[in-house]
Amino acid sequence: MNLAARLTRTAAEHGHRIAVELGGNALTYAELDTAAGRVAALLTHRGVAPGDRVGVMLPNGLDFPVLYYGILRAGAVAVPMNPLLKSREIAHYVGDSGAVLLFAHQACSAEAVRGAEGTATTVVPLATDTLTELLAGHTVPAAPHPRAEDDTAVLLYTSGTTGAPKGAELTHANLMRNAEISARSLIRLTPEDVILGCLPLFHTFGQTCAMNVAVAVGARLTLMARFDPADALRTLQDQGVTVFAGVPTMYAALLAARTAQPESYDAATLRLCLSGGAALPVEVLLGVEKAFGVPVLEGFGMSETSPVACFNHLDRPRKPGSVGTPIEGVELRLTDVRDGVGELCVRGHNVMKGYFGRPGATREAFKDGWLATGDLARVDEDGYYYIVDRKKDLIIRGGFNVYPREVEEVLYEHPAVAEAAVVGLPHPTLGEEVAAAVAPRPGADVTADELRDFVRERVAPYKYPRAIKLMEALPKGATGKILKREITFGA
Ligand code: ADP
Repeated sequence: MNLAARLTRTAAEHGHRIAVELGGNALTYAELDTAAGRVAALLTHRGVAPGDRVGVMLPNGLDFPVLYYGILRAGAVAVPMNPLLKSREIAHYVGDSGAVLLFAHQACSAEAVRGAEGTATTVVPLATDTLTELLAGHTVPAAPHPRAEDDTAVLLYTSGTTGAPKGAELTHANLMRNAEISARSLIRLTPEDVILGCLPLFHTFGQTCAMNVAVAVGARLTLMARFDPADALRTLQDQGVTVFAGVPTMYAALLAARTAQPESYDAATLRLCLSGGAALPVEVLLGVEKAFGVPVLEGFGMSETSPVACFNHLDRPRKPGSVGTPIEGVELRLTDVRDGVGELCVRGHNVMKGYFGRPGATREAFKDGWLATGDLARVDEDGYYYIVDRKKDLIIRGGFNVYPREVEEVLYEHPAVAEAAVVGLPHPTLGEEVAAAVAPRPGADVTADELRDFVRERVAPYKYPRAIKLMEALPKGATGKILKREITFGA
């Protein structure tokens, strides 16, 4: 079984339907499948053997699915990389994965060439028409190369909880089942659906929950090169988007844009929003549901779990603040539970084989056959899970545990707050002190003292942030997740 064979089956059934679209350019399923087959022929011609790693460093665009499925079709392993990586980081990715080829968008190809210097990796720079030109000599699509269920399909680099990025080895079965289950039982996706791909496809969330789910059923993927709330609102209307998958900062931005101009665009076709990747503040969830009149379902996942592990399901009441219940065939449990909170561990068909070339890190990641997520969680009497926080983000102030997320939720209740992040600062006697960075909504008139008092009135005295820094926007990673480690507090 090869994940790329899924595309071939969908193309046989829905060949005439649009598979992927960006800015007026589109590929039907028949065209996408043929192009992937020709990429496989090109790779084989270039000496790429099954199991070889091939890097793809591209922003969202039509080339991404063509290359991704083409690499898989040749039996090779796709290594998606963020096009914003710098040469030092690229050197780590190509060295660690031993990639034989790296397809790099022209905007990042010079950096890629520097990164690949002295390695065995050949960089293939891609300008707008390069792929078409490269494929001109390979008109006969290669058939999907047979792959075993546990053969690695994709290496997804993730920082995990510590250290340099490690390549999570996801198998064809991992990715296929995660896409099938997400498409059919979570999203109930049909070929009539239009899913907005504003998450980067090189990241696990966009890859499975936008691209692979669309391919699993023959739905249409409408891409955005980068997320912008006003563009997203316009695309919802112009493309008749039915499903939106995003991270919480995207929802917060959409909500702010929508509130500023309630009548600007109509999102009448939208039927479902999916959130994951970071904690979705309850205020934001409720705000989006009210503004758009559709359910927002939150789930939990990580690169190592393909990524979907649990979700609020359409056939059960969704609980704000909860990441729902495990998906079919996946088990969750909590270890080292204290006061109802323990480390969330995952077991099931979605869990990676291990970290590529790192048996030690792989052993550390698993506890008795369960993948330890590094996230603290609790579970309620109905079996719904709640992410309390990342283990490493827990603040211990004078011996008391402060979960940043709890304090962030309170900050989000303040009408002037657009984004909030609570972090621990080193403190000579307490060990750590609680601090917060807040980006106010555009035009909001609020002071740090006002926000501090707002939280002080609502939580126990040891939890409220003594220092609050106001910023225009909080630093974010490629997916739009807030990067707490990049927030600095001056003396
Ligand atoms: P990272 O963000 O660490 O680079 P991933 O993209 O694999 O790597 O993200 C996985 C992590 O994202 C999880 O371990 C968890 O901390 C966080 N996460 C994902 N979904 C949620 C959620 N719904 N609520 C809170 N945290 C989440």
